[in-house]
Amino acid sequence: AKAGGRNTYRFFDTAMAENARARVRLQHELGVALAKEQFAVHYQPQYHLLTREVIGFEALVRWQHSERGLIGPGEFIPVAEETGQIVPLGTWVLRQACRDAVHWPAHLRVSVNLSAVQFRSSSVVDVVDMALADSGLPPDRLELEVTESALIEDHEGAQATLMALRSRGIRVALDDFGTGYSSLAYLRRFPMDKLKIDGMFVRSLDSDQDAQAVVTAIIRLAKALRLDTTAEGVETKEQMVMLRALGCDDVQGFLISRPMPAGQVMPYLARSADV
Ligand code: C2E
Ligand code: CA
Ligand code: CA
Ligand code: CA
Repeated sequence: AKAGGRNTYRFFDTAMAENARARVRLQHELGVALAKEQFAVHYQPQYHLLTREVIGFEALVRWQHSERGLIGPGEFIPVAEETGQIVPLGTWVLRQACRDAVHWPAHLRVSVNLSAVQFRSSSVVDVVDMALADSGLPPDRLELEVTESALIEDHEGAQATLMALRSRGIRVALDDFGTGYSSLAYLRRFPMDKLKIDGMFVRSLDSDQDAQAVVTAIIRLAKALRLDTTAEGVETKEQMVMLRALGCDDVQGFLISRPMPAGQVMPYLARSADV
């Protein structure tokens, strides 16, 4: 950190102070938005490569900001995680996703992202139970996406939570697979249903041999451990063809569809049934 000398420190001081102010403002605005429920859940289809059918949708939160319009989660989830606001926000998303999914055809699942903070909170299983009970969504139609960061701090606790969820028939997917530290050790230790291959590897599939080797290895590993695989961020036909050849189970990405508002899910399904 010394490389830049004195001026670098001064620059960082100012930048950090500005950053801190922006964060406090965002935290306050998030609080207001939570109270007023100014969020929306959008849904991105997950497409099965063998049956060529949609098997479910991932729930992705957006902030309906009164002045700035729709804001993506990348801008506020990290702050909400720092402040703890992710717990009420995540609960709201989970409940909304269950309420939306219960109206979909019964073979479709909904996948909901659980942040590490949420996953580690002592009430997580109760919150999930209540979301299912209140919506009437059967547990086997819910999938929860967790990242490695949710698992690293307290192995026993994480294992207990995973077992509690999976004993109800809820599925668990390990999100952003390949971007963490010690993925391989976790896979044996933690009961999971699915690996989501990070878009970073998928993006370079058609150009980069190393990415191909990594994706091939992940899919083989998943098969050996009897886990499903979803490839994220699939944008081209070439990527999809390659993933199908490698035995990947399903794909998600702009090639299939961008995330859509809840009201567009049924029309989308009707349209895709026609083709
Ligand atoms: P993620 O869980 O890895 O979700 C996938 C992200 O990739 C989404 O961004 C999605 O819109 C985007 N995406 C999908 N297909 C493509 C593609 O073909 N190309 C590209 N370039 N991107 C694609 P989004 O909706 O902005 O969400 C970003 C991240 O925010 C998510 O990454 C997830 O980590 C987090 N997030 C979103 N909703 C929630 C939530 O309800 N709770 C929590 N804890 N985190 C959430
Ligand atoms: Ca996800
Ligand atoms: Ca992901
Ligand atoms: Ca990601």
